[in-house]
Amino acid sequence: MHVKVLGSAAGGGFPQWNCACRNCSGLRSGSLRATARTQTQLAFSPDGVVWFLLGASPDLRTQIAATRQLDPPAGDSTGTPIGGIFLPSADVDSVMGLLHLREFQSFFLFSTPAVQKIVRSENRIFDVLHRAEPPVQWQTLSPGGRLACRFGEDPSAPPTFICSPVSVGGSFPDYVSTDLIRSLASPESVIALRFEQGAKSFFFAPALPDISGEWLKAAASSSVAFLDGTFWSDDELLATGRGQKTAREMGHVPLSGRDGLLAQFPADSAARKILLHINNTNPILDETSAEHRAVLDAGFEIAYDGMECTL
Ligand SMILES: [Zn+2]
Repeated sequence: MHVKVLGSAAGGGFPQWNCACRNCSGLRSGSLRATARTQTQLAFSPDGVVWFLLGASPDLRTQIAATRQLDPPAGDSTGTPIGGIFLPSADVDSVMGLLHLREFQSFFLFSTPAVQKIVRSENRIFDVLHRAEPPVQWQTLSPGGRLACRFGEDPSAPPTFICSPVSVGGSFPDYVSTDLIRSLASPESVIALRFEQGAKSFFFAPALPDISGEWLKAAASSSVAFLDGTFWSDDELLATGRGQKTAREMGHVPLSGRDGLLAQFPADSAARKILLHINNTNPILDETSAEHRAVLDAGFEIAYDGMECTL
C-alpha cells in the first residue's frame, strides 16, 4: 500500500488567512522555522494504480494538481486514477472538497449512513456530484464492521484491501439542523479508518475526541497510525486569543499533559506514529520549539505535505 499526505494542517491551513498568531505571523515574515501546510488530506493506493482519498479537504483541487500519481491516466481524454473517497465525518473540512470533484466524474463515496444523509439531504449544493453518468455511488461504512474491497470481477478472489471504520465518539457539525441530528445515530458522526492489506495496515484519525479503548486498539495494532495532532494543550485557542473553546470541547484530545495523546498512546505499540491535522496555533509547528522536540522524543513524527510511505 502506498500512502501520501497531501495536506497536514487543521481547518484554515497554515498560515490561516485571517490569523496573526505567533506561528502564522512568523511564517509570513520568515522569522519562524516552519513549513506551510494545506488542510488535512490523505491519498492511498492498494496497488500503485488506483487511488482513494481519505476526506475531501477544501484544498483538494490544488492538492490533486500537485500530485503526479493523481494525474488522468496517459492516453485517455478523460478520467482519473481516483476510485473513491472515504469520508471520516460531515465536517466542512472533510466534505467541502467534494465540490472540486464535480466535473461529471463518477466514483465511489464511502461514509456512514448519517454522513451520507447530511451531505445529501441538508446540502443541495452537493447534488452537483450526481450529474455524472453513472452518478456517484455511495457505499455504507458501518462502525465496528469490516468492508472488503475487491478489484476485478472474481468474487472468490481475496479482497484487495479491507476497511474497518471505528467510531471515535464526537458530535455532528454545528451546521446540521437539530431536527436532522435527532434522527441520526451518534456513533456515525465521526469515524477513524483502518485499512489493511495482508499483514500491513494503517490507521487514519484526524479527529480523536478522547482516549478510548476501541480506536486505541485499532491504532496501536496498525503498521502506521496517522493521529490527531490538532492542539498541543487543551487551552491553546483561549491562550492565543483564537477561540472560546477548549481542545476537548472541539473534539480533539490535546497532545500534552498526563492525559494527553503522547502520554496515553500505548508505549508497547510497534506502530509508526504520525501526527497530522495540526492547527496553526500548535507550537509543534515551530521546528525550534521545546514542544516540537518533545513530540520527536516521545517517538512521534509530524506529518508534512508531500510525505509518503509505502507499506
Ligand atoms: Zn495562526
